[in-house]
Amino acid sequence: MPANHHQDVLLCPGPVNVHPEVASAMTAVDMCHREDDFSALLDDVSRKILEVAGASSAYGALVISGSGTAANEAVLSSAVERDTPVLVLANGEFGERLAAISELHHPETTCLKHRWGTPIDLRRVASWLDTHPAGLVAMVHHETSTGMLNPVLAVGAMCRARGIPFFVDAVSSFSADPLDLDAAGVTYMTSSGGKAISSYPGVAVVIGQRSALAECAEREGPVQYLDLGRHWRFFESRRQTPNTPALPLILALDRALGLALEEGMPQRYARMAGLASLVRRRARALGLELLLVRGARSSVVTSIVLPSDVRYEALRVALRARGYVFYGGKGPLADRIFQVSTLGTVGRDEVHGFFDVLEEVLADLRGQAPMLRAVAS
Ligand SMILES: *Cc1c(COP(=O)(O)O)cnc(C)c1O
Repeated sequence: MPANHHQDVLLCPGPVNVHPEVASAMTAVDMCHREDDFSALLDDVSRKILEVAGASSAYGALVISGSGTAANEAVLSSAVERDTPVLVLANGEFGERLAAISELHHPETTCLKHRWGTPIDLRRVASWLDTHPAGLVAMVHHETSTGMLNPVLAVGAMCRARGIPFFVDAVSSFSADPLDLDAAGVTYMTSSGGKAISSYPGVAVVIGQRSALAECAEREGPVQYLDLGRHWRFFESRRQTPNTPALPLILALDRALGLALEEGMPQRYARMAGLASLVRRRARALGLELLLVRGARSSVVTSIVLPSDVRYEALRVALRARGYVFYGGKGPLADRIFQVSTLGTVGRDEVHGFFDVLEEVLADLRGQAPMLRAVAS
């Protein structure tokens, strides 16, 4: 447990327990966002984002004050013009949200929906692209609602072959599960401070091909605050943001990016994968099943099938009382799974602590009479 005994261990895929240096960076300095020191900070944060992503000089990076959805809405509102046909691939909550945002800005949006937790059907995608016009393809890299990694490389190759811009929501996977933007031919990628990069929520990240961003900057967007082209114009001309930025959150993000780079990206990816496999080992040792098959699972979150005789709410309340916070399933997975994530300062000790307590709680809940179990939930 962290030093402060009121502090829960956060095993959700954001918010996370932040490193003390990230917390103190937030209040380290007051500065004016129209002065040179802010421009230097923004330039530095932008470079660090690209370095964490391992992106070539073909890319540029922006920060937008807002949660991850702000970055997604910036791309989906203003990366392409209104009458552009957009194809969204969805196999969970966040893919479906991309489609909902796109529909607001592009009436010609099609969502190829898949059952949650099933892989994207690449043949279905290819045949759709062969028979329909598309001016943008959008998909989620790590579908957080199930824990599934989606085939960005394969879809990127289809887009590249057809000259279609490609947008990838990597909000929850950025810095935890590697994604080679150049190899996949990604045009735009989004993330957020409060997920795997392990800073605070409230500042979002957009990485874009510089040529696409420059094209975008020549148009007026249909929105103002989230006009991607406007953000790029301000960044390119004076290393500023169009509106007042969430400076403390940018300072915190800067430190979190610094910590990732100091750890080294290969080491970080290996550490995250190691924590995720520890979660899976401990879950299986308790006789619990995993939602996804091997190979599809991210390093960010593990979806564990809820035993049929245990309600999520009872589990949540019992573990919260012992200082552990985690999520249940959404939508069709509500009361079917619970999710364990290992971001921020969570390490092997916290994972073992959680599963030791989970074992006791499960035994306890199952030992109760059905009446009492109902009361507990
Ligand atoms: C968290 C998340 C988002 C954005 O959600 P916010 O609540 O706006 O931060 C988008 N996509 C994915 C895959 C996410 O995990």
